[in-house]
Amino acid sequence: MADFFIGGQWVGARAGGTREIRCPADGSLVAEVAEGTREDTEAAIAAARAAFDTGPWPSTPAPERGDILLRAAELLEQRKDTFARAESLDTGKRLVESEYDMDDIAACFRYFGKLAGQDAGRVVDTGNPDAFSRVVYEPVGVCGLITPWNYPLLQTVWKVAPALAAGNTFVLKPSELTPHTCVLLMSLLTDAGVPAGVANLVLGAGPAAGAPLSEHPDVDLVSFTGGLATGKVIAAAAAATVKKVALELGGKNPNVVFADADFDTAVDYAITAIFLHSGQVCSAGARLIVQREIHDEFVAEVVRRAELIRLGGPFDPDAETGPLISAAHREKVEQYVATAIEEGAVLRTGGRRPADERFKDGYFYLPTVLDDVRQGSTAVREESFGPVLTVETFTDEDDAVRIANDTHYGLAGAVFTNDASRAQRVANRLRHGTIWINDFHPYLPQAEWGGYKQSGFGRELGPTGLAEYQEAKHIYQNLRPGPLRWFSGEK
Ligand code: NAD
Repeated sequence: MADFFIGGQWVGARAGGTREIRCPADGSLVAEVAEGTREDTEAAIAAARAAFDTGPWPSTPAPERGDILLRAAELLEQRKDTFARAESLDTGKRLVESEYDMDDIAACFRYFGKLAGQDAGRVVDTGNPDAFSRVVYEPVGVCGLITPWNYPLLQTVWKVAPALAAGNTFVLKPSELTPHTCVLLMSLLTDAGVPAGVANLVLGAGPAAGAPLSEHPDVDLVSFTGGLATGKVIAAAAAATVKKVALELGGKNPNVVFADADFDTAVDYAITAIFLHSGQVCSAGARLIVQREIHDEFVAEVVRRAELIRLGGPFDPDAETGPLISAAHREKVEQYVATAIEEGAVLRTGGRRPADERFKDGYFYLPTVLDDVRQGSTAVREESFGPVLTVETFTDEDDAVRIANDTHYGLAGAVFTNDASRAQRVANRLRHGTIWINDFHPYLPQAEWGGYKQSGFGRELGPTGLAEYQEAKHIYQNLRPGPLRWFSGEK
């Protein structure tokens, strides 16, 4: 089994054996892939280091690198069906969602392809005719990219596209649960014109195949998307060699609904915000914070709608949402719900696996609503990363903001209201990296994405997303070099 891409060659595992990839919707075997160890990752780091230190990529003119990314976008569009199918088999998500993801990924390649080379640095006025000073942007070096399973290729390309645009080389370690589209990506990048050694891929578990990317002295930057606990381990490991670190971590995202919001719209978004991809979305609207006077009517309608959601596998045209990623993850969600109920939450619907025999081999879990959760309880503090909506109630604007900000996370949030001034006021006061007004989930490649507080460090997307992968170097030249003679004793 040769699934690692190192130095432009497909190679097999040195010692790690293989791992079965199974579709979470029915447990069927998708493939066996090579399981990497520390040695495999070290070989990939060596290849990326050599390609950076002696290869052509860092000094390739930035517009040429940009053209290669534009070509990658085109190739992805041509291969969309293959990529989308592979993504759905690994994740269990609906094919139509994987197809949307591929469109978003092509847009991301295009955005960074066009951005590459747009900023060639600047001349700085020294005020001194005998000095010349300029700032140039250079690639950081070898990047270690570690990505999760919920949007496997999307999260990966949010890193790969700016890293390549800026002239870096990289080693990618995707989630061990969802490797396929990253394997396909290596061939696509090669076909687009990325030189050998620039893009490297290893597969396997985090502590074995991923950890060297945060520890090895030859890696200059580690960019990680995943859970908070793993992010802390990676940041601590990266500190030993003072790597540049970017962390895109979890969220516990508030969705604030005022009584004056359009009722049907707000209910519809509340449902989509949490139950899309069975809640396995970092920006999922997992905390519904609703104004007291509409609480009963609003929650009743959310529950009614949640009970109508049709579960199904990736290729079931009637399915509206799919399974959880693994048996272990479903157990984690079950434990979260049990703890919430112990702490006083009222289960309004769901809270169990579906009884239908059709789902017995997959990792399905019913859309769940937990009402009357207490502020400060586990249910509102911890990410379940499953189809579980918690409900809190507020009295007025100040109360809404205070409750919505009472979390150590700060990834995203939304406010629903028909009062335009209040919408802006509340959006200004919410301490989360992305705020939606009367909407949920849209993001743009040209606008930054990243977390406040413990949701992360550093930005993806947008022009400063590219800057994450660049060093800004100030070059100052004295045009009349000679002795300074600052100290009279030296005369
Ligand atoms: P995870 O932290 O378990 O794993 C993420 C990646 O880290 C995987 O590739 C894993 O193999 C690797 N890993 C694990 N331990 C490691 C170690 N010691 N050293 C190096 N790598 C290691 O997360 P997950 O379960 O795959 O993903 C779900 C989490 O990701 C959720 O918390 C979700 O909110 C978050 N997420 C955040 C964003 C965002 O944009 N902020 C986007 C998607 C997902």
